[in-house]
Amino acid sequence: MSLPTPLQELTDPRFARHHLRLLLKRDDLIHPDLVGNKWRKLVPNLDAAAGRPILTFGGAYSNHLRATATAGRLLGLPAIGIVRGQELAARPLNPSLAHCTANGMRLHFVDRSTYRRKTDPDTLAAIRREAGADDAYVVPEGGSNALAVRGCRALGEELRGHADVVAVACGTGGTLAGLAAGLAPDQRALGIPVLKGGFLDAEIRALQDLAFGGARGSWTLDHRFHFGGYARTPPELHAFADDFEARHDVPMEPLYVAKMLYGLVALAEEGAFPRGTTVAAVITGRPFP
Ligand SMILES: *Cc1c(COP(=O)(O)O)cnc(C)c1O
Repeated sequence: MSLPTPLQELTDPRFARHHLRLLLKRDDLIHPDLVGNKWRKLVPNLDAAAGRPILTFGGAYSNHLRATATAGRLLGLPAIGIVRGQELAARPLNPSLAHCTANGMRLHFVDRSTYRRKTDPDTLAAIRREAGADDAYVVPEGGSNALAVRGCRALGEELRGHADVVAVACGTGGTLAGLAAGLAPDQRALGIPVLKGGFLDAEIRALQDLAFGGARGSWTLDHRFHFGGYARTPPELHAFADDFEARHDVPMEPLYVAKMLYGLVALAEEGAFPRGTTVAAVITGRPFP
């Protein structure tokens, strides 16, 4: 683990011609196996689990589920993954779920309607019982609870004095909620949601209430760059990601990071940032596999 993570300046004409500086906050280099915001969100939770098994939730290709499996192995805690969709139990497992079991995670498959009701206390109790995990420490789907959001505050603190605007991709918004809280008053966080039509503004406010007891920092969202929804990666996005990777030699995680950078380039070209603005883009993860 290495903190603070590196901050690299890029030369990119799409920013330079608008007199903007572009920095990459390389959170993907935080740890060789457990990268980016997942490290910042999960490590405080595994500490809080204090030796109990850790139980969490995810879909067929969940970055959060894979990261929890990895974290469990690294920190020596048993991990249980509740997977959305009983059909996914069929062998061979898909590569993402195979990664989970290879890291020692025990998978428990539930049907979609049960999965949807997993935050209902009775349903959760039944899932825990069936999974043999009555004593487990539960981390919510996507990993954003109070400890996770507070863990991401350090990301903002590392960026104090280095940028005017800090951009990050948003799933649950937990990373943005913590990041914004850690920035200095003259800095702003900019979130690019990768899910379509969510209620993310309200959810981020709720996460800040939960973690800090109120609103913190300044942040905005730009909802235009989800490309049709979670895990939708049309050819135009892949072309952008391949080109960015070739120009700058940064591995492009397609579900989150590529959408965020695509959005930043579009905003720069639209003239959304005043001349002289320094924009930092958080590289929250690495491509899988
Ligand atoms: C999980 C993930 C995110 C989203 O984080 P949230 O805290 O849920 O908003 C962003 N980028 C990458 C690479 C991720 O794996």
